Amino acid sequence: MPESNVSARRFSVGLTGGIGSGKTTVADMLHARGAAVIDTDLLAHQLTAPDGLAIPEIRAQFGEAFLTADGAMDRTKMREYVFAEPTAKARLEAILHPLIRIETERAAAQARGTYLVFVVPLLVESGSWRQRVSRVLVVDCAEQTQVRRVMSRSGLSEQQVRAIMAAQVSRQQRLAAADDVIDNDGDAVALVPQVDRLHASYVSLAAKCN
Ligand code: ADP
Repeated sequence: MPESNVSARRFSVGLTGGIGSGKTTVADMLHARGAAVIDTDLLAHQLTAPDGLAIPEIRAQFGEAFLTADGAMDRTKMREYVFAEPTAKARLEAILHPLIRIETERAAAQARGTYLVFVVPLLVESGSWRQRVSRVLVVDCAEQTQVRRVMSRSGLSEQQVRAIMAAQVSRQQRLAAADDVIDNDGDAVALVPQVDRLHASYVSLAAKCN
């Protein structure tokens, strides 16, 4: 049996949430408790780094102008372009999404945790992910909290952060897709009992899967 089929049977959590909701923070906490974390954003970054697997096709479809001097995808330029041009966004996604799925399965086949956590920012937006995971975990907070956190992390303006949020599904749509929810409107300490409780339940569900 191919390795990817073996990993497909392992208990897995799809961790999602809006920008700045706290996905990375929660993923780090689950990792510290023994989960294997696969961050699809990180894989996408690797694919578009110099010599990344997506670079030849990006060069062919978008041209050298969308690459930096060192041969990576020019992220800023591409972001601006696809924001203004929905067909370009679809073209870029058609290059990246299949490669991300391949790399995700490769990472999953090699992962050695108690269970798998896939961090997928656009899990609810891209329907097929929901079938891939055993549970959907949404990290949730008020929109105002998202804006405040992203502004202080990135230096983006409120308008820029809200434009990114507007391109994502609404908080209500995301919550409707959730099997489990972490409320991240409080401080970091408030996360601990929630993460502990969920981790314990995932460990026991994973044990039943094996
Ligand atoms: P995401 O991965 O969803 O974009 P992050 O986990 O990177 O979100 O969190 C966004 C920012 O907010 C980070 O700078 C992080 O350290 C901070 N942050 C996340 N959760 C909390 C919290 N409960 N209290 C204070 N700061 C937080």
